[in-house]
Amino acid sequence: MKITHNPGHSLTTPGKESPDGYKEWSYTNEIVKLVIAELDTYEGVQQKRIDDPTGRADYPPAVRANLVNSFAPDLHIDHHMNAGGPGGWYEAGHGIETFVESFAQKTSVAIGEKVQNNLVKALEFRNRGLKENRFLVMLNSTDNAKARILIEYAFMTNKNEAMKMRTVDYQQKAAKAVVEAIVAHYGLTKKVVKVMYTDKVTVPNTAFWQASSLVQEYQKKGFKCYALPKSLKDQEPNDPAPFVVETDFAHASIVLMELKKKGYSLAVWESL
Ligand SMILES: [Zn+2]
Repeated sequence: MKITHNPGHSLTTPGKESPDGYKEWSYTNEIVKLVIAELDTYEGVQQKRIDDPTGRADYPPAVRANLVNSFAPDLHIDHHMNAGGPGGWYEAGHGIETFVESFAQKTSVAIGEKVQNNLVKALEFRNRGLKENRFLVMLNSTDNAKARILIEYAFMTNKNEAMKMRTVDYQQKAAKAVVEAIVAHYGLTKKVVKVMYTDKVTVPNTAFWQASSLVQEYQKKGFKCYALPKSLKDQEPNDPAPFVVETDFAHASIVLMELKKKGYSLAVWESL
Protein backbone atom coordinates (compact mmCIF):
# COMPACT_ATOMS: atom_id res chain seq x y z
CA MET A 1 0.00 0.00 0.00
CA LYS A 2 1.05 3.59 -0.54
CA ILE A 3 0.97 6.34 2.07
CA THR A 4 1.75 10.03 1.83
CA HIS A 5 2.65 12.10 4.88
CA ASN A 6 2.36 15.83 5.27
CA PRO A 7 4.07 17.14 8.39
CA GLY A 8 2.24 20.42 8.82
CA HIS A 9 3.88 23.56 7.45
CA SER A 10 7.64 24.22 7.76
CA LEU A 11 10.21 25.80 10.03
CA THR A 12 9.74 29.09 8.22
CA THR A 13 5.93 29.34 8.32
CA PRO A 14 4.97 32.42 10.34
CA GLY A 15 2.68 31.85 13.32
CA LYS A 16 2.75 28.07 13.25
CA GLU A 17 4.50 27.68 16.58
CA SER A 18 4.15 27.46 20.36
CA PRO A 19 4.19 30.77 22.26
CA ASP A 20 7.88 30.20 23.02
CA GLY A 21 8.73 29.82 19.34
CA TYR A 22 8.86 26.01 19.08
CA LYS A 23 7.64 25.28 15.55
CA GLU A 24 4.66 23.11 14.70
CA TRP A 25 6.80 21.39 12.07
CA SER A 26 9.39 20.50 14.71
CA TYR A 27 6.78 18.44 16.54
CA THR A 28 5.24 16.78 13.51
CA ASN A 29 8.53 16.13 11.69
CA GLU A 30 9.75 13.96 14.57
CA ILE A 31 6.51 11.99 14.69
CA VAL A 32 6.45 11.49 10.93
CA LYS A 33 10.06 10.24 10.88
CA LEU A 34 9.15 7.65 13.52
CA VAL A 35 5.97 6.60 11.71
CA ILE A 36 7.83 6.16 8.41
CA ALA A 37 10.67 4.18 9.98
CA GLU A 38 8.27 1.84 11.76
CA LEU A 39 5.97 1.31 8.76
CA ASP A 40 9.03 0.53 6.65
CA THR A 41 9.41 -2.65 8.68
CA TYR A 42 6.12 -3.93 7.21
CA GLU A 43 5.65 -5.77 3.90
CA GLY A 44 4.56 -3.83 0.85
CA VAL A 45 4.44 -0.31 2.28
CA GLN A 46 5.62 2.59 0.13
CA GLN A 47 5.70 6.03 1.70
CA LYS A 48 6.36 9.57 0.60
CA ARG A 49 6.69 12.85 2.45
CA ILE A 50 5.20 15.80 0.62
CA ASP A 51 6.96 18.53 2.59
CA ASP A 52 10.51 19.79 2.33
CA PRO A 53 12.17 17.33 4.74
CA THR A 54 14.74 19.96 5.72
CA GLY A 55 11.88 22.17 6.92
CA ARG A 56 13.28 25.21 5.12
CA ALA A 57 10.70 25.60 2.37
CA ASP A 58 6.97 25.81 2.98
CA TYR A 59 5.60 24.20 -0.17
CA PRO A 60 2.31 25.84 -1.14
CA PRO A 61 -0.86 23.71 -0.92
CA ALA A 62 -1.00 23.21 -4.70
CA VAL A 63 2.53 21.79 -4.79
CA ARG A 64 1.75 19.41 -1.93
CA ALA A 65 -1.50 18.35 -3.58
CA ASN A 66 0.36 17.57 -6.81
CA LEU A 67 2.90 15.49 -4.91
CA VAL A 68 0.08 13.48 -3.36
CA ASN A 69 -1.78 13.08 -6.64
CA SER A 70 1.26 11.90 -8.55
CA PHE A 71 2.04 9.28 -5.87
CA ALA A 72 -1.61 8.11 -5.77
CA PRO A 73 -1.62 6.84 -2.19
CA ASP A 74 -4.15 4.56 -0.54
CA LEU A 75 -3.88 6.76 2.52
CA HIS A 76 -2.85 10.36 3.05
CA ILE A 77 -2.11 11.68 6.53
CA ASP A 78 -1.75 15.32 7.47
CA HIS A 79 0.09 15.65 10.78
CA HIS A 80 -0.56 18.80 12.84
CA MET A 81 -0.47 20.43 16.24
CA ASN A 82 -3.50 22.45 17.28
CA ALA A 83 -3.55 26.02 18.54
CA GLY A 84 -6.10 28.08 20.40
CA GLY A 85 -6.61 31.11 22.55
CA PRO A 86 -5.89 34.80 22.33
CA GLY A 87 -2.09 34.46 22.14
CA GLY A 88 0.42 33.21 24.64
CA TRP A 89 -0.06 30.01 26.58
CA TYR A 90 -3.72 29.06 26.67
CA GLU A 91 -4.65 26.16 28.92
CA ALA A 92 -8.34 25.99 28.01
CA GLY A 93 -7.78 24.48 24.57
CA HIS A 94 -6.41 20.96 24.91
CA GLY A 95 -6.76 17.45 23.59
CA ILE A 96 -6.56 15.34 20.47
CA GLU A 97 -8.77 15.47 17.40
CA THR A 98 -8.74 13.77 14.03
CA PHE A 99 -10.49 15.07 10.94
CA VAL A 100 -11.95 13.54 7.83
CA GLU A 101 -13.25 15.68 5.02
CA SER A 102 -16.66 14.08 5.21
CA PHE A 103 -18.28 11.36 7.30
CA ALA A 104 -19.39 9.92 3.98
CA GLN A 105 -15.80 8.78 3.34
CA LYS A 106 -16.09 5.39 5.01
CA THR A 107 -12.46 4.33 4.75
CA SER A 108 -11.24 7.66 6.10
CA VAL A 109 -13.71 7.40 8.97
CA ALA A 110 -12.64 3.84 9.81
CA ILE A 111 -8.96 4.72 9.91
CA GLY A 112 -9.60 8.08 11.55
CA GLU A 113 -11.52 6.44 14.39
CA LYS A 114 -8.77 3.91 15.02
CA VAL A 115 -6.09 6.60 14.97
CA GLN A 116 -8.06 8.88 17.29
CA ASN A 117 -8.81 6.11 19.80
CA ASN A 118 -5.22 4.84 19.81
CA LEU A 119 -3.85 8.35 20.31
CA VAL A 120 -6.19 9.08 23.21
CA LYS A 121 -5.15 5.82 24.89
CA ALA A 122 -1.45 6.41 24.27
CA LEU A 123 -1.12 10.12 25.08
CA GLU A 124 -3.91 10.39 27.66
CA PHE A 125 -5.00 13.84 26.47
CA ARG A 126 -8.66 14.84 26.21
CA ASN A 127 -10.64 13.07 23.49
CA ARG A 128 -12.07 15.76 21.22
CA GLY A 129 -13.27 13.09 18.83
CA LEU A 130 -13.35 12.43 15.12
CA LYS A 131 -14.61 15.48 13.28
CA GLU A 132 -15.75 16.47 9.85
CA ASN A 133 -14.33 19.43 8.05
CA ARG A 134 -14.79 19.82 4.36
CA PHE A 135 -12.01 22.24 3.65
CA LEU A 136 -9.35 21.09 6.03
CA VAL A 137 -7.23 18.99 3.76
CA MET A 138 -5.11 21.24 1.70
CA LEU A 139 -5.51 18.85 -1.19
CA ASN A 140 -7.95 19.62 -3.92
CA SER A 141 -10.97 17.43 -4.41
CA THR A 142 -9.45 15.64 -7.39
CA ASP A 143 -6.62 14.12 -5.42
CA ASN A 144 -6.84 10.37 -5.58
CA ALA A 145 -5.93 9.34 -2.05
CA LYS A 146 -8.44 6.65 -1.19
CA ALA A 147 -8.45 7.66 2.46
CA ARG A 148 -7.24 10.85 4.01
CA ILE A 149 -7.15 12.06 7.56
CA LEU A 150 -5.77 15.04 9.42
CA ILE A 151 -4.44 14.53 12.92
CA GLU A 152 -4.18 17.28 15.53
CA TYR A 153 -1.98 15.47 18.07
CA ALA A 154 -2.27 18.04 20.85
CA PHE A 155 -2.41 21.79 21.46
CA MET A 156 0.94 23.48 21.05
CA THR A 157 -0.56 26.50 22.90
CA ASN A 158 -1.29 24.35 25.96
CA LYS A 159 1.90 24.25 27.98
CA ASN A 160 1.37 20.79 29.44
CA GLU A 161 0.70 19.19 26.06
CA ALA A 162 3.34 21.23 24.22
CA MET A 163 6.11 20.24 26.64
CA LYS A 164 5.13 16.59 26.62
CA MET A 165 5.02 16.46 22.82
CA ARG A 166 8.63 17.70 22.65
CA THR A 167 9.84 14.53 24.37
CA VAL A 168 10.94 11.46 22.45
CA ASP A 169 8.73 9.41 24.76
CA TYR A 170 5.52 11.14 23.64
CA GLN A 171 6.61 11.31 20.02
CA GLN A 172 7.16 7.56 20.08
CA LYS A 173 3.80 6.97 21.77
CA ALA A 174 2.09 9.07 19.12
CA ALA A 175 3.87 7.36 16.23
CA LYS A 176 3.13 3.91 17.62
CA ALA A 177 -0.56 4.77 17.99
CA VAL A 178 -0.77 5.85 14.35
CA VAL A 179 1.20 2.87 13.05
CA GLU A 180 -0.89 0.37 14.99
CA ALA A 181 -4.09 1.85 13.58
CA ILE A 182 -2.77 1.53 10.02
CA VAL A 183 -1.41 -1.99 10.60
CA ALA A 184 -4.76 -3.10 12.01
CA HIS A 185 -6.86 -1.47 9.29
CA TYR A 186 -4.80 -2.74 6.35
CA GLY A 187 -3.78 -6.06 7.94
CA LEU A 188 -0.09 -5.36 7.40
CA THR A 189 2.52 -7.97 8.28
CA LYS A 190 6.11 -7.51 9.39
CA LYS A 191 8.85 -8.02 6.83
CA VAL A 192 10.69 -11.25 7.35
CA VAL A 193 14.39 -11.17 6.74
CA LYS A 194 15.35 -14.63 5.47
CA VAL A 195 19.08 -15.06 5.56
CA MET A 196 21.83 -17.66 5.71
CA TYR A 197 24.18 -16.47 8.39
CA THR A 198 27.45 -16.48 6.53
CA ASP A 199 28.96 -13.10 7.33
CA LYS A 200 29.22 -10.67 10.16
CA VAL A 201 29.87 -7.00 10.63
CA THR A 202 31.49 -5.81 13.84
CA VAL A 203 31.92 -2.33 15.22
CA PRO A 204 34.75 -2.94 17.70
CA ASN A 205 34.72 0.20 19.77
CA THR A 206 31.22 1.51 20.47
CA ALA A 207 30.33 2.93 23.86
CA PHE A 208 27.99 0.56 25.64
CA TRP A 209 24.99 2.87 25.24
CA GLN A 210 25.72 3.23 21.52
CA ALA A 211 25.98 -0.53 21.10
CA SER A 212 22.66 -1.09 22.85
CA SER A 213 20.88 1.53 20.76
CA LEU A 214 22.34 -0.08 17.60
CA VAL A 215 21.08 -3.46 18.80
CA GLN A 216 17.58 -2.02 19.17
CA GLU A 217 17.73 -0.36 15.77
CA TYR A 218 18.96 -3.45 13.88
CA GLN A 219 16.72 -5.86 15.75
CA LYS A 220 13.78 -3.72 14.65
CA LYS A 221 15.00 -4.13 11.08
CA GLY A 222 14.96 -7.90 11.61
CA PHE A 223 18.68 -8.57 11.95
CA LYS A 224 20.39 -11.01 14.29
CA CYS A 225 22.60 -8.69 16.27
CA TYR A 226 24.00 -8.19 19.73
CA ALA A 227 26.47 -6.23 21.81
CA LEU A 228 29.34 -7.80 23.71
CA PRO A 229 29.19 -8.12 26.62
CA LYS A 230 25.42 -8.40 26.75
CA SER A 231 24.89 -6.83 30.16
CA LEU A 232 25.87 -3.60 31.86
CA LYS A 233 26.89 -5.71 34.85
CA ASP A 234 29.96 -6.86 32.93
CA GLN A 235 30.75 -3.46 31.52
CA GLU A 236 31.41 0.07 32.66
CA PRO A 237 28.82 2.39 31.01
CA ASN A 238 31.34 4.21 28.86
CA ASP A 239 33.71 1.40 28.05
CA PRO A 240 33.95 0.36 24.43
CA ALA A 241 31.69 -2.58 23.58
CA PRO A 242 31.62 -4.38 20.23
CA PHE A 243 28.35 -4.36 18.30
CA VAL A 244 27.86 -7.37 16.00
CA VAL A 245 25.44 -8.09 13.16
CA GLU A 246 25.32 -11.63 11.77
CA THR A 247 23.78 -11.89 8.32
CA ASP A 248 24.46 -12.96 4.73
CA PHE A 249 26.88 -11.54 2.18
CA ALA A 250 24.43 -9.10 0.55
CA HIS A 251 23.01 -7.72 3.77
CA ALA A 252 26.43 -7.47 5.39
CA SER A 253 27.62 -5.08 2.71
CA ILE A 254 24.58 -2.85 3.24
CA VAL A 255 24.98 -2.91 7.01
CA LEU A 256 28.67 -2.07 6.72
CA MET A 257 27.89 0.90 4.46
CA GLU A 258 25.18 2.14 6.82
CA LEU A 259 27.41 1.90 9.87
CA LYS A 260 30.25 3.72 8.13
CA LYS A 261 27.82 6.44 7.10
CA LYS A 262 26.79 6.77 10.73
CA GLY A 263 30.45 7.46 11.55
CA TYR A 264 31.52 4.04 12.81
CA SER A 265 34.62 4.08 10.65
CA LEU A 266 36.22 1.07 12.35
CA ALA A 267 33.40 -1.29 11.38
CA VAL A 268 34.72 -4.48 9.79
CA TRP A 269 33.11 -7.17 7.66
CA GLU A 270 34.27 -10.78 7.85
CA SER A 271 33.06 -14.32 7.18
CA LEU A 272 31.61 -16.27 10.06
ZN1 LIG B 1 -1.06 22.81 11.24
